[in-house]
Amino acid sequence: MSSKITIAERNGQLVHISEVDSGLSNCVCLNCKGLLIARKGEINEHHFAHYKVDCGIHFETQLHLAVKTILREENKIRLPERDLFFYYDTVKIEKRLKTIAPDIFIKNDQEEIIIEVTVAHACDDLKIAKIREINISALEIDLSKINRETSISELRKIVIENINYKKWLYKKMVFNDVPIIEKEKIKTSNDEVKVADTSLLEVIAFVFFIILLGLVADRIPWKKVFRNNIKR
Ligand SMILES: [Zn+2]
Repeated sequence: MSSKITIAERNGQLVHISEVDSGLSNCVCLNCKGLLIARKGEINEHHFAHYKVDCGIHFETQLHLAVKTILREENKIRLPERDLFFYYDTVKIEKRLKTIAPDIFIKNDQEEIIIEVTVAHACDDLKIAKIREINISALEIDLSKINRETSISELRKIVIENINYKKWLYKKMVFNDVPIIEKEKIKTSNDEVKVADTSLLEVIAFVFFIILLGLVADRIPWKKVFRNNIKR
């Protein structure tokens, strides 16, 4: 795989090579924060190059760093199997966690998940065994099919929303039963259901009331009532 990088950072935002003009445009390296120059010539693939010293970042590392940035920006990730988001407030990269060094580590006050980003090398059995041992759920995001043309918004969708590129390497037992998901979402969806139920019930009640009114109206001898009133 080409080592040429295609993702940079500009004014604190991720930016793809396709979104910038050729030359210097205030883009910096995700790894060393050194100034990058966009090379968008006719012959070579469009890419970023370090303006001064090359820190040696390659395509795989830039994807890891971009995923970390996206996870930091979003604070939520959709989990496979269940259509639920996990909300977190802490994102760490390559943090030493007991016996392993996870790619990325996210957590909230209830749960924690190791995020393994696969680009060229899948997580090996030894690492999975160690994850099992420390009993922390680990989610793999498979970016092996991501190419140099993949835009930032596509990458963001894959990392946050899409579940086709994700699988559990290890799922802690508690994940099977206890929700690790955002409480807001459950609350919101329940509220939505409640709102929908209420309005539906109201409509049914209203229709029923109208029918009842019609039936009652038919049974009331209006002519007699009015005649009596007039007589009085
Ligand atoms: Zn660099």
